[in-house]
Amino acid sequence: MSDTATVYNLTPEESMRRTALKSALPPTLRRVLIVGGGTAGWMTALILARSLTELGVEITLVESPTVGIIGVGEGSTPWLRGFFDSLDIEESEWMPECHATYKCGITFDGWSTKPGCESYFHPFASMLDNLTMTQFVRNSDAKIRGADVCADPDRFFIAARLAAKQLAPKPAEHFPFDVWHGYHFDAVLLGQFLHKKALQRGVRYETAHVTHASLNEQGAIASVSTREGITLSADLFVDCTGFAGLLISQALKTPYVSFAENLFNDAAVAMPTPIGAAIPSETVSTAMRHGWAWKIPLTQRFGNGYVYSSKFCSADQAETELRQRLGLLESDTPARHLKMKIGRVTQHWNKNCLAVGLSQGFIEPLEATALLFIQQTASVFVDFLLRGDLSEAAQGRFNAHVNDHFEGTRDYIVTHYKTNSRTDTEYWRANAANLNLSEPLKQLLSLWMSGNSIAPHVRKQSLGRGYPVFSWYSIMSGMGIFPDPGALHAPTSEEQTFGIAEIDNLLERSAANYRDHREVLSRIPPRRRGQSLQVYFW
Ligand SMILES: Cc1cc2nc3c(=O)[nH]c(=O)nc-3n(C[C@H](O)[C@H](O)[C@H](O)COP(=O)(O)OP(=O)(O)OC[C@H]3O[C@@H](n4cnc5c(N)ncnc54)[C@H](O)[C@@H]3O)c2cc1C
Repeated sequence: MSDTATVYNLTPEESMRRTALKSALPPTLRRVLIVGGGTAGWMTALILARSLTELGVEITLVESPTVGIIGVGEGSTPWLRGFFDSLDIEESEWMPECHATYKCGITFDGWSTKPGCESYFHPFASMLDNLTMTQFVRNSDAKIRGADVCADPDRFFIAARLAAKQLAPKPAEHFPFDVWHGYHFDAVLLGQFLHKKALQRGVRYETAHVTHASLNEQGAIASVSTREGITLSADLFVDCTGFAGLLISQALKTPYVSFAENLFNDAAVAMPTPIGAAIPSETVSTAMRHGWAWKIPLTQRFGNGYVYSSKFCSADQAETELRQRLGLLESDTPARHLKMKIGRVTQHWNKNCLAVGLSQGFIEPLEATALLFIQQTASVFVDFLLRGDLSEAAQGRFNAHVNDHFEGTRDYIVTHYKTNSRTDTEYWRANAANLNLSEPLKQLLSLWMSGNSIAPHVRKQSLGRGYPVFSWYSIMSGMGIFPDPGALHAPTSEEQTFGIAEIDNLLERSAANYRDHREVLSRIPPRRRGQSLQVYFW
């Protein structure tokens, strides 16, 4: 019933395959230089070190003493769990150091004005949701054809139930169902933790401000020079310099594709608030006048921010609106203002340079996907390296793969805006009226609005790429987007096989096996070994 992707726990065959692949590493690759020490730089260093250090490849990271890291980015998808697991780093080690909490999903508040849809939850789906998720998709398909059934995502997923009750997605010992979850964390502390780990795993570290990159006759990077008078050469350069894109954009002049026509937000303002005794296990994303506000619970504070479009509102207006919302109008809590560049480079791997993180591109943080891009770009690149294929054709395949991931994610984020039904400001009206949609997104929306199931297309990933079936159904049904059939008809027996009361009952009994979030955070359990976590694409 479900197509799944195993994230960790390598089989013996996979281990052997990797060993064989390692012998294919090109002999010309002896030194890697990563420029930039934000989350992207340190995650990439650890991913490269995991496979390359034992093969004798030297990895150095150089970071400017004067340019700081962006210091935001406090939510993740469930894939981050695979990152730590693959490095054999236990939650009990990294989470307390980074003030981290568990994340069951995201509540979207105020994005829709349709009755009953003013708030909905985008869950991370799990094994436990197999039956109810199927029913959710069936009900949604029935509702687009005019049946009067419940298609509210909040009613079908264990993650929604856990978040509503502020429970941690960690089952009691006797309950054998792990729940798929992401994390919230302090971005600065995470950077420091990864830095420490990377040094322990053999990554070298230099503090110096890179001022110039020299190119060789083939136009590849030969070395970089620093303000401190050092010249650093390498066989492979990794650009993790954030929005500056020092190597990939400034030195190699890689063309850039802007997503500004699709996604209007280009700025953010952030400020913390204190956290109380209870710690929520979800991110809340609330629609504001000219964008949306995040509320992210950490063990020591809430992280808050307002992502907005500078075309529709000034930085001052955004700060005032956020302060008002947080009750901080009279407070001297400092606000951080940030600019965002939304889009991607055309080649993430160009000549001997790989761009990872904000330097390769950024889609605004609505679904907290940036760390996943970092993880996937670096991991897939290592797979290419270990296959020994550094040809132009391989670069082309790699870049097409990463670009596809960017476009798919962009389309999913665009859908949040396109399907909004707010009319209170020009910002929301312009988003709903925006016709700059990709062809695959137009096809998906048109299928749905003509009463046809999108599930077979998304399952094959021919439409809705990058997101699973349940995510597409959560957003469309959650926002209350249904063709208008006039009056709804009573469901036929085929259209409704389970009653919502039975589903409620099942989820309620399952939720009883999970404990209070704060309590679990005070004593984080060890990873359950032998259980391979799976991402559900149903
Ligand atoms: C408002 C906002 C909210 C976000 N929320 C999320 C979220 O919830 N989830 C998520 O996954 N992501 C989120 N992100 C994205 C996330 O913050 C970034 O993807 C992540 O922090 C990685 O950044 P980076 O390492 O690429 O860049 P940066 O953190 O900017 O690091 C750049 C590094 O390059 C170095 N550098 C720069 N110039 C030079 C030079 N000349 N010489 C040497 N070194 C140099 C700097 O010193 C620094 O170490 C958010 C981003 C924004 C803007």
